[in-house]
Amino acid sequence: MSDVKIFLKGFRRFHHHYFDKNPELFERLFAEGQRPRALMISCCDSRCDPGVLTDSEPGDLFVVRNVANLVPPCVSSASYAGTTSAIAFAICNLEVSHVIVMGHARCGGIRALMDNRSPGCDEEKIIAKWLGIAEDARQRVLKELPGKSPEVQARACELASILKSLENLMSYPWISRRVNEGKLALHGWYFDMENGALMQYDSDAGEFCEMEQHHEGSPAHSEEPPKLLHGTQKMR
Ligand SMILES: [Zn+2]
Repeated sequence: MSDVKIFLKGFRRFHHHYFDKNPELFERLFAEGQRPRALMISCCDSRCDPGVLTDSEPGDLFVVRNVANLVPPCVSSASYAGTTSAIAFAICNLEVSHVIVMGHARCGGIRALMDNRSPGCDEEKIIAKWLGIAEDARQRVLKELPGKSPEVQARACELASILKSLENLMSYPWISRRVNEGKLALHGWYFDMENGALMQYDSDAGEFCEMEQHHEGSPAHSEEPPKLLHGTQKMR
């Protein structure tokens, strides 16, 4: 079993190098509470930490993480709605003005969705039921990219599932109303881990476009990016 002491050492480093050197920030956050700029919905994947990837300060980003960064559709009988309740709190109580759904390359959840194996045990059924939120995205990939390699299809589904989650966000009346009133903007982002690039969905172009890239120059993708993912709705 691995040792958790590495994280305790990390906390000491945080305390020494960050907490002790930013007293005003933490005093303000403690006294006034949080007023995050945005809600980010991202994957549980340990390689995609939103705070690290955006170099955010404490208090900047309200984060919801789940398997494959999915947003369930609005249903009347949501029980144990962990993701939805966090989204509602961020939007209705904290009044964030931006919601970012951030997917990522090599997502194990999306790969499992594309593999589409029959769940054999209870824990697999739990995961499969959750991933079923993105079943439309899987079907779309199979229809638009038949015969492509599993890697190309998985990447396409990673992108398509972000659009599905944005679509599902708009199914909540308290979200669509704020979007239509110009009080809330929805964004689809994709972290391309291989190239260290961040891509953003451009609703006018109908595709994901590179927003930021870590390296100078233009390292090419190992495979041609899929030409699907034309959204059906305008996102702000
Ligand atoms: Zn993932």
